[in-house]
Amino acid sequence: MDLNEQIQKCHKCLLSETRINALCGEGNPNAKFMLIAQAPGEKEDREGKMFIGPSGKVLDELLTAVNINRKEIYMTNLVKCMLPKYRKPKQDEIEICGKYLDEEIDLINPEVLIPLGYYAIRYIFEKHDLPLPPKPEFHTVYGMVFLAGDKKILPLRHPAVILYNNYLREEMTKNYHKMKVLLKDCK
Ligand code: SF4
Repeated sequence: MDLNEQIQKCHKCLLSETRINALCGEGNPNAKFMLIAQAPGEKEDREGKMFIGPSGKVLDELLTAVNINRKEIYMTNLVKCMLPKYRKPKQDEIEICGKYLDEEIDLINPEVLIPLGYYAIRYIFEKHDLPLPPKPEFHTVYGMVFLAGDKKILPLRHPAVILYNNYLREEMTKNYHKMKVLLKDCK
């Protein structure tokens, strides 16, 4: 069974009982960038596709603003099934489902990992033995580039943040622009 099939049929944690679809990663398998979101939203869960709901619309706006096409990236989630009522992911769910993410990273082998939001960033930092700032200073990691072995890590805020805090749009656009800078770097 290939990885996507394993994810679609997965019942390794209780989230399988409340989801409609377990979401596989999607996008360019040769991408330099891998965007790692936290978990699917309602629309994504219903239709089985990534970033098609309101946060997908904001992601497209941010990518358009920095002149990057979705075709250039690979997108996936830390937790592949929707979290009921958008609750936070539990540690055991992250540990179990994170194994799929580890496999995706090995398969796609992107040059730049872009975790979006606290849980995805914490997972990627721990995986690469990077020190995580304490919560009050956590925002300082957004838009910074970290080196870990052969990978670059660019933590960004999740696009959904703009839905509730539009005043952050300018700062986020500036940080998302680092993708464009790194794209030139990679080439
Ligand atoms: S969240 Fe991950 S581990 Fe849990 S059932 Fe879904 S795919 Fe499996």
